[in-house]
Amino acid sequence: MTAMPVRHLVLVLGDQLDLESSAFDGFDATCDAVWMAEVREESTHVPSHKARIALFLSAMRHFAESLRERGWSLHYRRLDDDDNAGSLAAELAHSIVRLRPERLIMSAPGDWRVLQSLRQIVSTHQLELEIRDDRHFLTTIRDFSAHAAGRKQLRQEYFYRELRRRFDILMDNGKPVGGQWNYDQENRSAFPAEGPRDVPAPCRFEPDAITREVIALVEREFPDHPGSLTSFAWPSTRAQALQCLEDFITNRLPSFGRYQDAMWQGQVWLYHSHLSCALNLKLIRPLEVVDAAQQAWRDGKASLASTEGFIRQVIGWREYVRGIYWTQMPGYLERNALNAKARLPAVYWHGKTSMACLADAVSSTLEHGYAHHIQRLMVTGLYALLYGVDPREIHGWYLAMYVDAVEWVELPNTLGMSQYADGGLMASKPYVASGKYIARMSNYCKACPYDPAMSVGAKACPMTTLYWDFLIRHEVKLGDTPRLA
Ligand SMILES: Cc1cc2nc3c(=O)[nH]c(=O)nc-3n(C[C@H](O)[C@H](O)[C@H](O)COP(=O)(O)OP(=O)(O)OC[C@H]3O[C@@H](n4cnc5c(N)ncnc54)[C@H](O)[C@@H]3O)c2cc1C
Ligand code: SF4
Repeated sequence: MTAMPVRHLVLVLGDQLDLESSAFDGFDATCDAVWMAEVREESTHVPSHKARIALFLSAMRHFAESLRERGWSLHYRRLDDDDNAGSLAAELAHSIVRLRPERLIMSAPGDWRVLQSLRQIVSTHQLELEIRDDRHFLTTIRDFSAHAAGRKQLRQEYFYRELRRRFDILMDNGKPVGGQWNYDQENRSAFPAEGPRDVPAPCRFEPDAITREVIALVEREFPDHPGSLTSFAWPSTRAQALQCLEDFITNRLPSFGRYQDAMWQGQVWLYHSHLSCALNLKLIRPLEVVDAAQQAWRDGKASLASTEGFIRQVIGWREYVRGIYWTQMPGYLERNALNAKARLPAVYWHGKTSMACLADAVSSTLEHGYAHHIQRLMVTGLYALLYGVDPREIHGWYLAMYVDAVEWVELPNTLGMSQYADGGLMASKPYVASGKYIARMSNYCKACPYDPAMSVGAKACPMTTLYWDFLIRHEVKLGDTPRLA
């Protein structure tokens, strides 16, 4: 049966799940419709962790419920529909023929690859695709381009200060509160010898009927994909995401800053917010998160150092990496400044190694689709950098393995921050360190057969050996780099 033609078909991708999204501005339920599609390609273009697939599908299905509750016309394709064409482009092409929309509307997608394929379909069908600014960021790509114009290096700190001023965040009469922009020096403590005390339980959710159905679907359709679903408990609705935010502000923010860089064997969650997936799926907005943190500081419930440290991640790093991604793509994907060619070691997929630090970071990743920032940067990222892994391979791994992974945020973090593949556009020097850094920031080395102080011999720590090897290999290229020379 041919459907009635629709006026505007509003496209909602799996990471655009907000009823207040710009795509819905002017939505007229009498003649407009919403389009969503679960497709296999989005889980297989990199071999996605089962938890990442489950979270996207569960959040999409919950969001679809809220659209139906509004009484809006929704064209929703399920991954297990018999005739599902398997890709966003093919599904959209079918819907265009069937629904004959006058115009397509969406909020700016987060992924360059997806944008290109949608544009191609739309041009084949000679339709107009209206792309609206995504209000889930404080800035637009135009803002970032204006900031970047004429600069040789794009440092996060300067963009961050601009945003603090512009949005009046932690400011006092045009000056940063407390007199400093940045409390990074106070945010680098390791845990005492006995380890972290009284770490609050994470905010987790028992899967409901929708999530249980999705979990069964993922086990059935993607049995060979990495990762486990046995502990799946991520927030998949806005209400749950708001609960996680409140839980973080009350229970973790006070210790967030101080122990931001610390690691501890078997401690997955520590004082981090675990909000990245909710932010990236657009279940919550960065300004909501920032306002809640600022309020906690005003109420005397969190220190300035902790609050500033957290806000810097959300409005500093998050906005900045998005700007890098969209101003540097598509060439960014090809960058390989250190000419790294090694294949990704198999340990990244199974976590079985005698290196205690790597085993812990990879096993947490496999179990939960999560590892905190310093585990990503200074364990899995560091090892890949020192080992000389091809940046495209390690990029594929990070994009596949984390519940919060979306290319606009993952790629600059991997290629730019962690692998120095952009030759210093993002980072002033490669984030390299020997095993001694890991020994200082964690208890991993105590349970490891290797010695972080040794670079040769049977007990030599692979991180330390590879650190010196890295410096020797890149002496000519990096010898003049300030702070590394
Ligand atoms: C190699 C590598 C790959 C990464 N891939 C991703 C990714 O795919 N998706 C993702 O959201 N983050 C990524 N990050 C950034 C960061 O590690 C995660 O945002 C963070 O660990 C998520 O956990 P959390 O919510 O508990 O963060 P918290 O430590 O509680 O930080 C608070 C919030 O700040 C934001 N944030 C913190 N650091 C960064 C950063 N460097 N860039 C952008 N936003 C940041 C996140 O939204 C996060 O939720 C990556 C980092 C590295 C080094
Ligand atoms: S000794 Fe080396 S390999 Fe072992 S945990 Fe420490 S840094 Fe990692």
